Amino acid sequence: MIKFIEKLLNLIYVQPCYFCKSIKEDKIICSRCYGKIHFLPAGVFRKNEECNIYACTIYDEIIKKLIKDLKYHNQRRLAPLFAYIMANYWKKLGLMQNYLILPVPIHKSRMKERKYNHMDIVAQEFSKITNYKLNKDFLIRIKDTEKQYKLHKQERIKNIKNAFDINKNINLDKNTHLLILDDITSTGITLEEIIRVLKKNGYCNITALTLATPDIWN
Ligand SMILES: [Zn+2]
Repeated sequence: MIKFIEKLLNLIYVQPCYFCKSIKEDKIICSRCYGKIHFLPAGVFRKNEECNIYACTIYDEIIKKLIKDLKYHNQRRLAPLFAYIMANYWKKLGLMQNYLILPVPIHKSRMKERKYNHMDIVAQEFSKITNYKLNKDFLIRIKDTEKQYKLHKQERIKNIKNAFDINKNINLDKNTHLLILDDITSTGITLEEIIRVLKKNGYCNITALTLATPDIWN
């Protein structure tokens, strides 16, 4: 009986688009809202210490809501969409190597407050799509930093300096192709600092992929 009711409910329930609430398509994002996303051309967005940094989209309306709600409003069901957008862009690059995914970590005090690191769950979903392995524990955040967007460039640099380290208990081949995943890149300081730490520890094959950038001219 319960099974029957469940089946019936599934038939009746139509998932509205998360962004415009339209029930026409029964999808988390309708094609109209998906079409509003501004994908950047497939290519290197920025280079840092010989490492390629890619940004998938411009940080506007839909992407802003996607990041904010997944990160701060416990909307974990948005993670597959987040990863799908990234994977969709990533595919276009046609890179053939096998990567190890490293999500940008948050500090443990932030983890206590938010209960989860949104990039961990995005990385899980991204790993499912791409079949790349994932290591959530290799990169660690050793400094509880101020929120970057509140600060000026010089303060940001100071704030993020020495904020990351690698987990010395995890033994990774130095030639592993590492793929750092993050949500936004603006000044690029966070990625720069992570790349610096990885290089200092002998890793040289580093690539970064971010969902969005607010500044396409950067
Ligand atoms: Zn929609």
